[in-house]
Amino acid sequence: MNDEDCIFCRIVAGEIPAQIIDEDERTLAFMDISPATRGHALAVPRRHARDLLEIEASELEAVVLTAQRVAARMPERLGAAGVNLLNSCGPAAWQTVFHFHIHVIPRYEGDPLRLPWIPHEGDPDEIKATAEALR
Ligand code: AMP
Ligand code: ZN
Repeated sequence: MNDEDCIFCRIVAGEIPAQIIDEDERTLAFMDISPATRGHALAVPRRHARDLLEIEASELEAVVLTAQRVAARMPERLGAAGVNLLNSCGPAAWQTVFHFHIHVIPRYEGDPLRLPWIPHEGDPDEIKATAEALR
């Protein structure tokens, strides 16, 4: 993908507007245009990488640190009671913008967000077999 085709590369380049809240040599953080809660922000690398599997380790480290920095402001500045970090990797995992990003979502007591799965106890044999596949 070319930078011209990538909306977040265009934000990094200053070609389209964004509410930037943090920047350093390798990363940028800006407000999400469709916030899940008040203060929902995105942390991205300046250098294009499609997703979690493609981003280089030191770039990923820099983005995580930016997400942490932004998250750390949310309790005091916004009155957040907690924060969720979310990354979607691939269309099946809800990724819609194919420039790596971490959602930084402040959480408030009584906000409308819910876990996207219903926790229930798994089959131990299945969990064991799947663990084997992942080792
Ligand atoms: P994802 O679905 O995880 O790929 O997240 C993409 C996010 O980017 C969504 O939450 C969108 O609301 C957000 N988004 C898309 N375009 C823009 C934009 N121009 N400025 C800020 N956020 C954007
Ligand atoms: Zn990009």
